[in-house]
Amino acid sequence: MYAELLPGLYIVATPIGNLGDLSPRAAHILSHADVVAVEDSRVTANLLRHIGVKRPMTPYHDHNADGVRPGLIARMGNEVVALVSDAGTPLISDPGYKLVRDARAAGHLVVTVPGPCAAVAALTLAGLPTDRFLFIGFLPSKAHARSEAISEIAAIRATLILYESGPRLSACLTALAEGLGDREAGVAREITKRFEECVTGRLSELAARYADAPPKGEIVIIVAPPEAPPPAGAEDADAALAEALTRLPPAKAAGEVAKRLKLDRRELYARAMAMKGER
Ligand code: SAM
Repeated sequence: MYAELLPGLYIVATPIGNLGDLSPRAAHILSHADVVAVEDSRVTANLLRHIGVKRPMTPYHDHNADGVRPGLIARMGNEVVALVSDAGTPLISDPGYKLVRDARAAGHLVVTVPGPCAAVAALTLAGLPTDRFLFIGFLPSKAHARSEAISEIAAIRATLILYESGPRLSACLTALAEGLGDREAGVAREITKRFEECVTGRLSELAARYADAPPKGEIVIIVAPPEAPPPAGAEDADAALAEALTRLPPAKAAGEVAKRLKLDRRELYARAMAMKGER
């Protein structure tokens, strides 16, 4: 079923709670890796125990990555190096992108073994639009920096995905409601674990729900895109046309306003001609 593993870097997604979500291919690669680069060896040892193997592990986390990266890159020339994080997909709010960058620069094989990711799993639970989404990860914890980060993303027409901790959840939801408007949202908690739940509602309702009882466990917040602005009314159209007619002939004025206000060009042209006649 599996060809012999060539030397290189293997980015291996691991479960976000339920160990049954480790894919057979991920298990195969972890079983045959010459070394597994890990965030926390206790967490990965537990996973390896689950599949009945012992492999050499080396720590690779935010505090030592710059120091140990060159050694790992060198090993990829003739060994199978697997990268895992404590849970989910490496590189997603977790270390790893510089390892991939340097492995590529050194000409090594880079293989990904896709699997669980809390962001995507939460998106599938919330019942909000999935056609366009933006992964934000963790917002800054300080209130001012968090508000600034929220105002940067307020106009983006996409579903937003954020990671957050239980103690900060209510304050974060309140800040989101203030900065984005009271949008529909979902709080997905403990995905794939015994107490998995996804609670949906307006941001303000969710903030109130969790204000006095910060939830335990791991959390993803999903926020709906901004609602489409209401279609421009006749008064807006007339004002825009009147202004455009000061610069443009009726057909061009109608075309410009139709595009900007998403209105019917023919109707606007007729209105523009009438307005010219009224003058
Ligand atoms: N790389 C991981 C991934 O692919 O999802 C994310 C790592 S990030 C450091 C950890 C955060 O992911 C948690 O604080 C939480 O916000 C979210 N998370 C991880 N597992 C989760 C779960 N089972 N349920 C809900 N959120 C989870």
